[in-house]
Amino acid sequence: MTANGRRVFVLGGGVAGLAAAFGLARRSLAVHVLESRGWLGGRAFSSPDKERGEALDNGPHVMLGCYRAMRDLLRELGTEGEFQQDRSLTLAYRTAGAVTMRLSLSRLPVPLAMPWALLRLPVPFADRMRAFRGMLATLRRAPAEWTLGDWLRRRGQAGMPDEMLWRPLCRAIMNVEPEEAAAEDFLCTLREAFAGSAAKGAFWLPRRPWRELVGDPALPALQRAGVTVRTGARVAAFEPRDGRIAALVLGDGERIELGRDDAVVSALPWFALAALWPGAAPPFATLRSSPIVTAYCEQSPTARPLPDDGPVVALVGGDPFHFLIRRPGDDRRRFALLAGGNRSFDGQTVATIAQRARRQLELWWPGVDLGDVSVRVRKEQHATFIAGCGSGAVRPAPGRLSGGPGNLWVCGDWTATGLPATLEGAARSAAAMLAAFT
Ligand SMILES: Cc1cc2nc3c(=O)[nH]c(=O)nc-3n(C[C@H](O)[C@H](O)[C@H](O)COP(=O)(O)OP(=O)(O)OC[C@H]3O[C@@H](n4cnc5c(N)ncnc54)[C@H](O)[C@@H]3O)c2cc1C
Repeated sequence: MTANGRRVFVLGGGVAGLAAAFGLARRSLAVHVLESRGWLGGRAFSSPDKERGEALDNGPHVMLGCYRAMRDLLRELGTEGEFQQDRSLTLAYRTAGAVTMRLSLSRLPVPLAMPWALLRLPVPFADRMRAFRGMLATLRRAPAEWTLGDWLRRRGQAGMPDEMLWRPLCRAIMNVEPEEAAAEDFLCTLREAFAGSAAKGAFWLPRRPWRELVGDPALPALQRAGVTVRTGARVAAFEPRDGRIAALVLGDGERIELGRDDAVVSALPWFALAALWPGAAPPFATLRSSPIVTAYCEQSPTARPLPDDGPVVALVGGDPFHFLIRRPGDDRRRFALLAGGNRSFDGQTVATIAQRARRQLELWWPGVDLGDVSVRVRKEQHATFIAGCGSGAVRPAPGRLSGGPGNLWVCGDWTATGLPATLEGAARSAAAMLAAFT
């Protein structure tokens, strides 16, 4: 139902676009989602894998309990209950040669539980104390020009705290090495996750493929909300006139004329919006992206499964993979190896990547029968933007884009949410855009 016939075209059906569409529909606007791919969900999606006979995610996505805006969207989609919701953070570490350690927080608030957990790690006392001091230092803001690598050096975190605590966290949160990550963006996320109750810093692990959690349920839910959804509708150009977008041109040549009151909400990745930009390239076109490569492994049914160290295992010094992730409820012989921001995969074939995964399994789990482990590879070259030093200056605030067409609004994980590229950043950007939308 529309109150005034004003139309809003939401470009992009990822998390930000979906959250924006639901919010706009609640205001009784005529909302149209235009998504270039054949499905909704954006970068959190799954595709059928013939060899496995099931859908595999484009890469495992893990949430934290502090993802409040993302949880709002999942609630809207009826899938918030499809996660294993841990009550506090537990993270296992495994080194080459099979030594395993566990950082396990009690259910006390994280600021109380974390020091205790750090002090119990089975590493030299001096290292534990340094890690503890580093954790305290996260409470203070870091200068905008510091990378996390700078911060680690200046806060005396080289060696064990860097390798076991900060580097795995940085890879998981920022999808780059500390030397490339803006210290303050990282610290801001940590403060949010670790400054409150135990549950806010705990993992939320999906029990089903992401497509079933976001993309598939989104279509009927949007339709029920009165939103028109067009998939396979790539926006190829903006037609500017009098400082506004006067028409949207689709890839097949179709033109959508916009009236004086009609608005456009871009929930596109920055590079897709920059490609549509009328005139000189906008500042955000300089953002760079970082890849994620996943090797989905399956041991043969008769093989002895890898030991179960928990759903998320940080592979200390992991080369090339940094994490092992298991989907709750899956057979123990199935798991994913994940590498965030590792450029050594650039240009490598799937066969080479699979070979590297097998080699790392042999080193990290010596003695385990890996004879005919099957490996399926998923490679996302533009998985996330890099929240590096200087990116803060070019990330626009979610809302109306200053200097852009007057009827263009913008959201997406890459806008200035204070967070790096995450599902939560995407969902929050939509909430911030909606708060500014008039
Ligand atoms: C493998 C992988 C693992 C990740 N792991 C995590 C994780 O563990 N935790 C976490 O919080 N985050 C994770 N992320 C990041 C998270 O997926 C993103 O931050 C989030 O999904 C971004 O949402 P978005 O809506 O801003 O953008 P997108 O999801 O990119 O949505 C943009 C949409 O616009 C569409 N589009 C593009 N061009 C056009 C056009 N011209 N016309 C119309 N439509 C267009 C795209 O098809 C897409 O659907 C991961 C990302 C990847 C790729």
